[in-house]
Amino acid sequence: MVKRTTVADSPSIAADRAYLGVQDDPAIIAEVERLLSRRTRDIRLNDEINRLFRERIWPQTAKIIRAWMIWVAILGVLTLALNMLLLPPEVSKSMVLPSAMLSPIALAVAVVWRRPRAPWVQGSLLIAGVFAILLSVAMVGVSAGGEFYERHLNIMLFVAITAIIIFGIPLAWTVIIAALALCLYFVFQLTNPSLELGSALASALFFTTGVFATVAARRNMTILAQKTFLFELRDRRRVSELAEVNDRLEYLARTDPLTGLANRRWMTETIDHLWDKGKKTPERVAMLMCDIDEFKKLNDHLGHAEGDRCLVQVAGIIQKHVRRSLDHVARYGGEEFLVILPGMSEKEALCVAERVRENVEAAALPNPTSRVSRYVTLSIGIAVQGPDGENHTSEQLQRNADAALYRAKQSGRNRVVIHSPATSSHDDIAERNTIR
Ligand code: GH3
Ligand code: MG
Ligand code: MG
Repeated sequence: MVKRTTVADSPSIAADRAYLGVQDDPAIIAEVERLLSRRTRDIRLNDEINRLFRERIWPQTAKIIRAWMIWVAILGVLTLALNMLLLPPEVSKSMVLPSAMLSPIALAVAVVWRRPRAPWVQGSLLIAGVFAILLSVAMVGVSAGGEFYERHLNIMLFVAITAIIIFGIPLAWTVIIAALALCLYFVFQLTNPSLELGSALASALFFTTGVFATVAARRNMTILAQKTFLFELRDRRRVSELAEVNDRLEYLARTDPLTGLANRRWMTETIDHLWDKGKKTPERVAMLMCDIDEFKKLNDHLGHAEGDRCLVQVAGIIQKHVRRSLDHVARYGGEEFLVILPGMSEKEALCVAERVRENVEAAALPNPTSRVSRYVTLSIGIAVQGPDGENHTSEQLQRNADAALYRAKQSGRNRVVIHSPATSSHDDIAERNTIR
């Protein structure tokens, strides 16, 4: 068969094309297997796999960060409005300035995280944004003073902990955010005028432990996500190996191993496709039924191996003289080849057939005991599907091409005969149908 079908990409595969194919990289395959053979907690991705992991989870991470930032912005506005309504004006006024910076900062980070940027840009902007938000929350309490002071420091830590838990970012970024939150807490708590140093230290220690536990939990979640990603890479490799083997098997099942041409099964599928049962018959198709003359004699005289070599050479000659991307050539039986020439008229098909026949003869492949010639020759029967004539079904076309071949054999072999309704009913061979 001149053409080979390809398996169409599914939309999900196309969407993952960014890292599709990496599963075929031997270094990555080996590293994935090495990592999966370790204990989960010992999984440490190398730079390349870590980059792939980050690329893979980026959309999800960015979505979570954006959603968090938007909620923080909304909550900032709502809290400020409630404070203005419910608190005495001198307290609420002192909260306005530090509160006012919270929502724009959160929204700015949400905008930055709308599309991927260089990791250092994303990381530093996220860390700076979270720090500014935490500072803003702490400053609201510091400005208001009194009971609001410690309460807002606790709110600030709560905000930091939610970020640490839900942001699937590199561990280093998480640690920086945790450290900044604790620094803010230490600085403001130790300078809290209404707290003694002892109780300030005690609460700082308590929250430090809590933040550490949160960072550890985040680390475990990340390692589990990395392990899932490693399994995904392994599965992708296995699926792609399986697909390759399937392709190969399918190809072998449809190909003649000797000549590499399509076999009868593939040709039947091609014919079914061209004459798609549901659709109307094709506009115009020509069919050539080719058969090597006195091939049995060649086998008997020169041996089966020489016969095989002859088949390969004749197959090559036929393929060479048809249109590579349009026509279909198959080994149809022992020394029979079927050629389908879509869109060809009777005259054009005759030209192709004659060219093939001439070139087989000119190749001078020996067939010393043949009654036709000392060399290998080919007889060809042609049938053409006309737009309004007969041959409406592929079976009929094949029968007619076969009948034409039969007449070519009967009239002396090494010739091309076109099927004609007039001659098919009786055995005489019309001269106009025979070119030699
Ligand atoms: P005709 O001119 O009437 O076509 O005579 P022929 O001898 O070519 O036809 P026949 O059908 O009598 O013989 C076909 C031979 O093809 C018989 C068989 O041994 C041989 N053959 C079929 N398949 C193969 C093959 O794969 N390799 C070889 N070497 N020979 C094959
Ligand atoms: Mg035959
Ligand atoms: Mg033959």
